[in-house]
Amino acid sequence: MNQQTIFVINSGSSSLKYQLIEPVSGDVLAKGLAERIGTDRGEVTHIVHGEKHTDTLPLPTHKEALNHIIDLFKENGPDLDHVGLAGFGHRIVQGGWYFKGAAIVNDDVHAKITELCDLAPLHNPAHLIGIDTAMELWPDLPHIAVFDTAFFADLPEKTRTYALDKETAHKYRIRRYGAHGTSHEFVSGTVCDYLGKDTVRQITLHLGNGASACAELGRKAIDTSMGLTPLEGLVMGTRTGDIDPAVVFHLLRKGMNVEEIDTLFNKKSGMLGLCGDNDMRDVWQRRDDGDSDALLALQVYQNRLLKYIGAYTFELGGLDVLTFTAGIGENDARTRYRLCEKLEFIGVKIDKELNENRDPSKSVWRISTEDSKVLVLVVPTNEELAIARQAIRLI
Ligand code: ADP
Repeated sequence: MNQQTIFVINSGSSSLKYQLIEPVSGDVLAKGLAERIGTDRGEVTHIVHGEKHTDTLPLPTHKEALNHIIDLFKENGPDLDHVGLAGFGHRIVQGGWYFKGAAIVNDDVHAKITELCDLAPLHNPAHLIGIDTAMELWPDLPHIAVFDTAFFADLPEKTRTYALDKETAHKYRIRRYGAHGTSHEFVSGTVCDYLGKDTVRQITLHLGNGASACAELGRKAIDTSMGLTPLEGLVMGTRTGDIDPAVVFHLLRKGMNVEEIDTLFNKKSGMLGLCGDNDMRDVWQRRDDGDSDALLALQVYQNRLLKYIGAYTFELGGLDVLTFTAGIGENDARTRYRLCEKLEFIGVKIDKELNENRDPSKSVWRISTEDSKVLVLVVPTNEELAIARQAIRLI
């Protein structure tokens, strides 16, 4: 068998997503999700050939979840012994100052990911559980850690440095690490491939529940909106994005504790906090029904985006390509239109027809007119494929 496949794992604290991918063609042989791990009402969904197989069962730990996933592969295919499984790609949110690229997991890499839990307390510990469990079940295959932050490891010092007391920043390793790097790298690289050149000044907008903007010169990130953590930057589904840090001091003085403020900023703010909904489809619906909270939420969301596009256009010294990706970026024609409309003065001309009629077979979809000075694109992101490709390259 010549085919080689990679098993991509994205392990969260109570969930584990997986895809079995053929990295060259991008074909997904199977994918699925284990949810509510740690409870006796766990659920595992395995999708193969478009067919969904779902089981509900107790899933006390990630090990039972992965074992059940293996059972579902045995029952419904494909046979993991006959798919040319070359190794595992593990998504890791925080690679800190250590990782400029993917790394084969060994004791040293494991220890570094563990050390970085401090910077990503919600994510890295859960990724390690995924790694440990998979390594226990498949000890003879290589396990590759692919970091969300690696694309930003080489951000210029002037964009990665906060204007914070130097010693404090150094002592606690406080800098902009960014996030969504796997997606921005995939999308900006796809744009360069599409244009056949690496010299473009581009902005990629990853607009999902989490959202970030990135300015790239060709394939290299020069600034990004997420910072020490994925809280900074754009308005998101449930996160504030940029906010005066003094709001924290104020709330502390008013009696809230750090955990409460953390939850408020990360889980109860953003679109949800502004209008009560974080799914953009619901927000638009409510705005159409005349809801003033939804209208204001959309205005705040779009204005923040506009600010970042403006800042990055100046940082780049002009703009050649603007690209939308992720759930909202790929599907929300109105958000794209509203934004592009405001960019007319820098030469952006959006084609209404193209914007509203996406051809899903295309990996790059132009929505600007032929004579637009800035090329505006939609490029569906594919983080799992990017992880599989980075893993196979290293293997
Ligand atoms: P994440 O991976 O960060 O959870 P996604 O990239 O899957 O998020 O994006 C999820 C968001 O995409 C949803 O919250 C929803 O607001 C938005 N979305 C999906 N489809 C549409 C659509 N047709 N119109 C507007 N928004 C959409």
